[in-house]
Amino acid sequence: MSDRTSDVAIIGGGLIGAWTAFFLARRGQRVTLLEKGVVGAQSSGVNFGNLRLQGRFPGQYPLSLRSQALWEDFDALIGEDCEFEQAGHLYLAYDAEEHAKLEGYAEVSESYGLRIERLGPADLKRRWPWLGECAVAATFSARDATANPRLATPAIMRAAARQGAIVRENTCVRGVERRGDGFVLSLADGATLSCGALVNSAGAWALEIAERFGESAPVFPAGPPQFVTEPFPYMIEPSVQAIDGSVIFRQIPRGNIILAGYPRTAADPVANRAPVPPAKTLAAMRALARVAPMLAHCHVIRVWSGIEAYLPDMIPVIGPSETTPGLFHAFGFCGHGFQIGPGVGLCLSEMIIDGATPTPLDPFSIGRFRQSATVSEKFRKEFD
Ligand SMILES: Cc1cc2nc3c(=O)[nH]c(=O)nc-3n(C[C@H](O)[C@H](O)[C@H](O)COP(=O)(O)OP(=O)(O)OC[C@H]3O[C@@H](n4cnc5c(N)ncnc54)[C@H](O)[C@@H]3O)c2cc1C
Repeated sequence: MSDRTSDVAIIGGGLIGAWTAFFLARRGQRVTLLEKGVVGAQSSGVNFGNLRLQGRFPGQYPLSLRSQALWEDFDALIGEDCEFEQAGHLYLAYDAEEHAKLEGYAEVSESYGLRIERLGPADLKRRWPWLGECAVAATFSARDATANPRLATPAIMRAAARQGAIVRENTCVRGVERRGDGFVLSLADGATLSCGALVNSAGAWALEIAERFGESAPVFPAGPPQFVTEPFPYMIEPSVQAIDGSVIFRQIPRGNIILAGYPRTAADPVANRAPVPPAKTLAAMRALARVAPMLAHCHVIRVWSGIEAYLPDMIPVIGPSETTPGLFHAFGFCGHGFQIGPGVGLCLSEMIIDGATPTPLDPFSIGRFRQSATVSEKFRKEFD
């Protein structure tokens, strides 16, 4: 017999679980969210904070744009501030091949209604005089944004709780089984919980839950190394990214520069560690100095990464289980989950309550891995 009852249980208190709990509770569902640690302490709390729209996988644009509208409305929706800044994203190309790639990204973005400015070396020098002089072309999307990941997930969870969601931290889900037309969860404290629908938003730990229901995906953990420098006078407004992935950086209004760069680093979800080898700091600083020479001698004051789930086609799993009615998966966000998180939560709530979502999610089906997995070009480039 179970000692608690919910319409929906959510495994994982990251950004995806938090948004899903919020949208479900807002529509009157009895929701219990279970988090083995504390809310927003894994990928969702340590990420770069980029809400980039340029350069997305084409099939992800409807979801990304729906998400961005929710980020833009964050304060009204959630009732708190998450340092959402809409200062745009600048992509830089350093040769003709990269320029062609930028143009390809821009055309896809524009086909979904995003406004992209194309810039040459003279425009770059005029608008951002601190840039080095070797970029041959750039694109700028003013709607791209950033937010503070440390603030966002706990704020969303508080808003979900105000709507009636029950949030249980330090509560690991140890077992899950189908019982009747619902599920029974075994919790680390020995309690059980019964629910009608179940959301698997357990991040880099999600595969274990999927496998209990006979489903699989070639998911693996990794983490993009992140660095933050000492503070400088504030002058870099947009996020800036070299399209070869060697560096992405932004300056927060407090003055520090946050930077990251591929390739990603190994991460261990069992030991709960994602250490950053020192060579990565040197490589990131060299890449930063090429793009913004004035930062060549700045000091890195902290280095970190996080444990993120990746798939070889570099797109997540989002949607209903193909073996088990009432089970919904949302994992393997491949470094994009912060931006698409609100849309994923909204879509999951619609699928659970209404039986369907207006946002096309077919490319994200877990069933795509019944055939051999496609390996994307991004995947080949972005991992050691
Ligand atoms: C360093 C870094 C930089 C990134 N930068 C960006 C960026 O700039 N822009 C962007 O869009 N994305 C970025 N990402 C990706 C983004 O952070 C993730 O895609 C997103 O946070 C995933 O959210 P999640 O809720 O799926 O996972 P998580 O935040 O990992 O949450 C999953 C939660 O499930 C819990 N859990 C697991 N198993 C159980 C269990 N059995 N019982 C109870 N709880 C369980 C975990 O403790 C965890 O808290 C970055 C990721 C990293 C690591």
